[in-house]
Amino acid sequence: ASPWPQARVLVAGLGTSGFAAADGLLELGADVQVVDESDSATNAERATLLETLGARVRLGAGSTDRLPGEVDLVVTSPGWRPSTPLLRQAADAGVPVWGEVELAWRLSGPAKRVPWLAVTGTNGKTTTVQMLESMLRAAGLRTGAFGNVGRPLMEAVLDPEPYDVLAVELSSFQLHWSHSLQMHSAAVLNLQPDHLEWYADAPDPSSQDARDRASSQDARDRASSPDARHRAMTAYRRDKALIYERVTHSCVYNVADRATEQMVEEADVTEGARAIGFTLGTPAPSMIGVVDDLIVDRAFVAQRRDSALELAKLSDVTPFAPHNVANALAAAALARSFGVPAAAVAEGLRTLTPGEHRIQTVVERDGVRWVDDSKATNPHAAGASLAAFESVVWVAGGQAKGTTFDDLVTRHAGRLRGAVLLGVDRAVVAGALRRHAPDVPVIEVPGTHTGVMEDVVRAAAGLARPGDVVLLAPGCASLDMWPGYGARGDAFAAAARSLAPPGPPGE
Ligand code: ADP
Repeated sequence: ASPWPQARVLVAGLGTSGFAAADGLLELGADVQVVDESDSATNAERATLLETLGARVRLGAGSTDRLPGEVDLVVTSPGWRPSTPLLRQAADAGVPVWGEVELAWRLSGPAKRVPWLAVTGTNGKTTTVQMLESMLRAAGLRTGAFGNVGRPLMEAVLDPEPYDVLAVELSSFQLHWSHSLQMHSAAVLNLQPDHLEWYADAPDPSSQDARDRASSQDARDRASSPDARHRAMTAYRRDKALIYERVTHSCVYNVADRATEQMVEEADVTEGARAIGFTLGTPAPSMIGVVDDLIVDRAFVAQRRDSALELAKLSDVTPFAPHNVANALAAAALARSFGVPAAAVAEGLRTLTPGEHRIQTVVERDGVRWVDDSKATNPHAAGASLAAFESVVWVAGGQAKGTTFDDLVTRHAGRLRGAVLLGVDRAVVAGALRRHAPDVPVIEVPGTHTGVMEDVVRAAAGLARPGDVVLLAPGCASLDMWPGYGARGDAFAAAARSLAPPGPPGE
């Protein structure tokens, strides 16, 4: 008999995954309570729906202070830190805490389990998962992209029609709250400082929302001491490394990012699982890489040491940028680990529509190309994005989340025509520019209301010369000013498109 009708479950956080978890649990007959300290319109709407299905929901300040009575299980939103009082209480009381991913995995049960191909890393996850999904589809498999891409795994698990394989994006937070996952294969794309405030160990009694925390001065202070940064980075890396210990077939790592290779070496890898590298260079055996203008497989081919198989052309990758080729290589490695034929790898890449706000050209005018990479929410991503262009007016700033910009600016100073900075932490970026690129003109635009974007775009237009790219690659989160990176990108695109056209008025 199903254990769920007796289970008393507390769902902590009413985001996309919390809502899906609560909804699924209600369907299984569990006794469901939900808490969230925000009583936003979205949450209120979700609460009403869940209440009609039988859940008890409490929203607003104070609702998340304490465990509400006896519970058998807490399903937490991935953004909640382990040090959150409510999660601490659960741990102290011996109540298990799972994320929605863990819940979905357990619910799928051994008999119904579909193989998972998973992607984690600091940057490129969504793009890679979408490439992978496209390759799997091209191979005729029933699949979907789930997890951190925005579609909860509960949906896949509760779908009555069975999948052949899932393309799964996992954030380090989701990995942290997953305990028993087993994946067919998994890739770690890269490992760079991000979300360090989440891993800063001091408890934060004032707030349980990751977004609030990201903006609190307190969290930024805590995350910024070198010692704390090192500790946080170690914890972040530990959560990402967990992924390799849960793999039965292929552990895919990035040859250019030593940290990912070290993670495979250090992980207690399942017997029989293989390490597969991906590289923008010539692949060694057991790697997927690039030869001339081709993506080539030397990992999943017949055992002769010199054998190699052409998978796709570099020109099949859009938008074409080095980091995107790396994403395609990782996706190809995962697809090939699952037996996807070479032709489907190429077709999957060719038929993919690139994601919004990821190096998306929004307008071209007077020889200047305006590019929205609002999704570049940390310095590493912004760096990859800058590397794709020769001469750039860089639009950056927002919430820095405890990261620094010194490396990034040092590396890319040569391609900067100028920089326009916005958002709460614009001074962090300005400081790095002053120190490492003193000749680059910098315009800081103060204010944190969304209308600021129009001033930003005007300033950028003033700096740009024909042939330049004005690139929104903020290197920072958007939540100081917008509900998300999408809204920030839309604001940039709208302002860029509506810049007063040159020529006489009335035309
Ligand atoms: P994620 O899902 O990990 O946030 P996305 O695929 O949405 O990653 O890409 C986010 C941003 O990161 C992109 O807009 C681009 O600026 C940058 N990026 C994408 N792939 C890579 C990569 N392999 N290495 C570094 N930066 C990348």
